[in-house]
Amino acid sequence: MIFILIGPPGAGKGTHSDALLRDFPCTKIATGDILRRHIKEGSSVGRRCEEIIGQGRLVDDATLWELLEPELTKLKDKAVILDGYPRNLAQATQLQEVVASNPIRAVVYIEADDNTLMERLCGRMLCPNCQSIYHRKTRVPRQAGLCDNCQAPLVVRPDDELEKVRTRLDIYAAETHPVVNYYQGLGLLKAVDGSQGIAAVYEQIKVMFRTKMV
Ligand code: AMP
Repeated sequence: MIFILIGPPGAGKGTHSDALLRDFPCTKIATGDILRRHIKEGSSVGRRCEEIIGQGRLVDDATLWELLEPELTKLKDKAVILDGYPRNLAQATQLQEVVASNPIRAVVYIEADDNTLMERLCGRMLCPNCQSIYHRKTRVPRQAGLCDNCQAPLVVRPDDELEKVRTRLDIYAAETHPVVNYYQGLGLLKAVDGSQGIAAVYEQIKVMFRTKMV
């Protein structure tokens, strides 16, 4: 079964999907993490996508499907959390191809206003090694600049710079938000208020997840 976390950049999809992994027997597929791994390894996909991602634009649908489809096939008997996919209607339609073997159980929509999102994204730091997420005000690492889990030096994502964040929010509104309406039409959408603190938002998601896992 598939669970989708959807919402604007900075809504907390990565943070909350990591927390769900700790509390529920499930596996996460985060398309942004997969793409960043390709960039780090210098693969042909990584070389092709690096500039696009750095600019805050979306990678093409065919590349995404090429990366995602084998993972979904491999995990078809497991509970899978999708973080970062689908990001437009074409991807949502493509995903419907696998729902016979991996039904979509719920789509969690994490809502937050643009000011909150800008604040979160512009202070964010990422561990390039284990992908843990930090923030200079709200999720400060124990040792300055180092990941709590693996002690790797933290980095700021190139697409978290102010101009790139604006581009990403615009693309979200134009291309990804229609996917929210699409899943609402299918009766799968569960909206949570993502503007509160991490613990309060996660509590809402956890309750929803617990009822849908059984
Ligand atoms: P994320 O870590 O989910 O914010 O993704 C980082 C970047 O990877 C995005 O801004 C896009 O450039 C690219 N990306 C991730 N998922 C997708 C997707 N489903 N479709 C297109 N591009 C994607």
